[in-house]
Amino acid sequence: MSMIAFSLARRLPSAASRRSAPRVLITASHRAYASVSNANAPAAEKLKINGDRLWDDIHYTAQWSAPSPGGVTRLCADDNDKMARDWFREQVLALGADYKINATGTQIAVIGGEDDSIPPIAMGSHLDTVATGGRFDGPLGVIGGLEVLRSLKEQGIKTRAPLVLFNWTNEEGARFFPLLGSSIVYAGRSTIQDAHASQSNDHSGITMGSELARIGYVGDGPNTFQEFPISAHFEIHVEQATTLEKAGKPIGWVEGWQGMTWYSLQLKGENGHANTYPMYGRRDALVGAGKIISELDELAYRHNGRSTVTNILSGPWGACNIQSDTKLSFCLMHWEAEGLEAMGKDIEARIKAISSQHGLETTTQRDIHLLPGDFWPDAVDCVRRACGDKGMASRTGTGHDSTMTQLLVPTAMVFARAKDGISHSPKEWSDKEDCMESALALGKAVLNFDELMKTKKDFQMPAHVAAERQAMSAGRG
Ligand SMILES: [Zn+2]
Repeated sequence: MSMIAFSLARRLPSAASRRSAPRVLITASHRAYASVSNANAPAAEKLKINGDRLWDDIHYTAQWSAPSPGGVTRLCADDNDKMARDWFREQVLALGADYKINATGTQIAVIGGEDDSIPPIAMGSHLDTVATGGRFDGPLGVIGGLEVLRSLKEQGIKTRAPLVLFNWTNEEGARFFPLLGSSIVYAGRSTIQDAHASQSNDHSGITMGSELARIGYVGDGPNTFQEFPISAHFEIHVEQATTLEKAGKPIGWVEGWQGMTWYSLQLKGENGHANTYPMYGRRDALVGAGKIISELDELAYRHNGRSTVTNILSGPWGACNIQSDTKLSFCLMHWEAEGLEAMGKDIEARIKAISSQHGLETTTQRDIHLLPGDFWPDAVDCVRRACGDKGMASRTGTGHDSTMTQLLVPTAMVFARAKDGISHSPKEWSDKEDCMESALALGKAVLNFDELMKTKKDFQMPAHVAAERQAMSAGRG
């Protein structure tokens, strides 16, 4: 069984009041599908994808980027993001989509089905990128979904359920923290107000809300699952690892994700003259931060996990100032819940020890905490059948918009093989054929799910979702 816990901006409770963490072990990525059919829905067998058009659009949209040789730097709600968004709008309007933008800037394109009383089956990802990112992380998911909609229309394949394509806002959190900035609101784990107040990571004081307004992307479309329910969510992404590459497979079905915790830490010391104040008795916040950074690195090796410091801000700057105020953001990742919890406890203890040694006051905030978990079995199975012999099981090492929608509805992902597993780099690369195969698998998975919904209404929840819903209803009762 796996459990998920997710919280935003949670101040850490004292050790005494902290609930004991669920003990979790993730099962290996080998599900028993032996008794399950490998057949695709009849419509899925017919589907073809225009790989040239998909490839051309991936590279065409890469032009909207800050100078970033070979790659893309298109930060959330910057001028290039506006250009990519404008292009997306034109494309979906040309398909006859019912198009809306919501308050957090997410673009929503609905194509009617035979029965529009059914909540649409969703595809989606993000057109925003990290700084000095690649051409595929994000755009492949959105443009791949667009290619599915175009191909379905051209080939006269009509679904029973309507379809929706999302371009989710601020998935990367590269410019505004926290990440998953719009799907987190859709999943009811944050509010529009908090999303709008997300501060720019360059410490300029600019917010996501003001920048979305500046580029004209604060709309009146639906913001939450309650306002706009979907039946399922499917997403293509580059693998960002080498599992597929090593196995010689172009695509994969994604069974689950690595657990992750993001922290914000503020260290407060004392101002003083850098040259005259004695070493003994100094309360230098940056020295404390340096020791914590070093601890974070060792911690990851010790626990067989991962850790990264993603932001640092310190002041007052000046040739003769002792640093009295230092802020750090860092994340911890682990494949097993027990490992992630242990890393969290470990670093919290070290932060306490280091800050008391240096006379620092600390505020530790756990911004995001997502235990490792599995996607919904029925959705994964739709992708597995769609991949066929070309695919294999994989797991993702990071969060995606799909890790938000899985809290709500059957969700699964398609992976495209990534050269050397490199991502968030101009070197990020997936071959044309692999991109085409991933879009074909996405389209087939959607058609498989559409077919499945004709006979099935209740979908088996992953254990963590079932447990969370039970806990919530118990809490209400
Ligand atoms: Zn991404």
